[in-house]
Amino acid sequence: MSTTEQIRERLTARLAELANRAESLEAELSKPLEADSEEQAIARENEETMEALEEAALQEIEQIRGALTRLDNGHYGVCAKCGEDIAPARLEAVPSATRCINCASA
Ligand SMILES: [Zn+2]
Repeated sequence: MSTTEQIRERLTARLAELANRAESLEAELSKPLEADSEEQAIARENEETMEALEEAALQEIEQIRGALTRLDNGHYGVCAKCGEDIAPARLEAVPSATRCINCASA
């Protein structure tokens, strides 16, 4: 079982990674489109993909911030629905999980 400090370190590292990713996607997205119309179509498609990736990164950032808050107030690793402890293996796989495997799959 990981200690609180190890979990906090992992979450913080992941947060930095996601923030970097969101930032570079944002920089990529703010570039002007190519003038050529064929390239423009490809660029637009890429842009949609990058927007989806950025959206996903921002969502995970929110989840990790929530997990760090729960670490601070001692609610980390407790299921938000049934109040049972979330299995350590699940937290290992999904550090920002807010529900135990039973409630998450219900
Ligand atoms: Zn539960």
